[in-house]
Amino acid sequence: MKKLLKLVLVFAIAIAPAVAGEKIKAGPRKGRVLEMEAKNAEFFVEKDRTVSIAFYDAAMKAQAPTTETVAATAEAPSGKAKLEFEKKGNLLVSKTPLPAGEHYTVVVQVKPSADGKSKNFRIPLDLSTCKACGNAEYACICDE
Ligand SMILES: [Zn+2]
Repeated sequence: MKKLLKLVLVFAIAIAPAVAGEKIKAGPRKGRVLEMEAKNAEFFVEKDRTVSIAFYDAAMKAQAPTTETVAATAEAPSGKAKLEFEKKGNLLVSKTPLPAGEHYTVVVQVKPSADGKSKNFRIPLDLSTCKACGNAEYACICDE
């Protein structure tokens, strides 16, 4: 009975993501959602270790990037590496891949427009797959 209750609770949390403010959300590409004021951005690490950022409206409907710019700093053990992004279709993709390894922090700065207020997101880079939700650990939506 207790187990069932827990299951129901987990399900309730899963369908009501707005309740918990700091809970990690995953986007349609199984990346990590970076919440901005107007659009949401989604951080995703591609197979070639480049970072791609997709944009969505509040209802998570895909949006083409217009005035948004993204920059990232990988705080890798080998030293900090700055990543520049360029537009590729509806994505902003880093021109260079992430430095080797993982378990370091990637700081992503999203700027909504040239004179807009930028927002920084600190993402712990863990590329292994979470068995429970199937997302990469940096986008894991499980409670713990
Ligand atoms: Zn998970």
